[in-house]
Amino acid sequence: DTSHNIVLYLEDISVSFDGFKALNSLNLYIEAGELRCIIGPNGAGKTTMMDVITGKTRPDEGSAWFGQTIDLLRLTEPEIAKAGIGRKFQKPTVFGSHTVFENLELAMAGDKSVWKILFARLRAEQIARIEEVLETIGLKDHRQVLAGGLSHGQKQWLEIGMLLMQDPELLLVDEPVAGMTPQETEHTAELLVGLAGKRSVVVVEHDMEFVRSIARTVTVLHQGSVLAEGSMQEVQNDPKVVEVYLGD
Ligand code: ADP
Repeated sequence: DTSHNIVLYLEDISVSFDGFKALNSLNLYIEAGELRCIIGPNGAGKTTMMDVITGKTRPDEGSAWFGQTIDLLRLTEPEIAKAGIGRKFQKPTVFGSHTVFENLELAMAGDKSVWKILFARLRAEQIARIEEVLETIGLKDHRQVLAGGLSHGQKQWLEIGMLLMQDPELLLVDEPVAGMTPQETEHTAELLVGLAGKRSVVVVEHDMEFVRSIARTVTVLHQGSVLAEGSMQEVQNDPKVVEVYLGD
């Protein structure tokens, strides 16, 4: 029995918008430490699925559990974030007029006033935590750079770092390499692979080369449910998947 290793259970999740089923009895199980990629044509339900996990959208049917005990459908969006699910949206929302270090400091403190946070003295373990995240995201040499002056890729990594300050057990990442240079894409692949293991990472991404380079298991969504699941090789050779992608 490996069910104790599952961090996220979505079971028979359905979501309708004006009678249109964006999710149709979706099942998804994510294991602890896993790096999962979710792919699927436009309108497949990927964003809606992320919205259900984070509490932004309530399903009409189904159940959603985080670990063995946390019923996500009973929690609000902020409660879900606090319980340990971090979500990175495609568009970075860093504080452009603050340094990289300050951005991580602000993210660590959460929702208190900016000035209160930046004037408070950091404890040694807080500094150590920020240093650790700077190292992880590869921005150690940019700590004093204003976030507004970072490259597109660097902003994305900073935002991942900001999520890491809350130490989420599950990290949801929406199209991490959209608009990135090949070098930035490569760094992002290393970063996400490195983040998994200690926590679970779920990535929605259109860039198939990128998915191939990072994913162990790929889930293909189509019309609101799982069409195929397996290694990239397995799903690519699945006739159902071929049909959906060629007919798109
Ligand atoms: P994906 O992220 O895979 O492109 P989405 O989850 O965004 O797919 O959308 C799934 C379907 O649900 C789409 O057909 C979309 O038009 C529809 N949809 C998503 N959100 C809403 C909404 N708030 N109101 C109405 N329809 C929506």
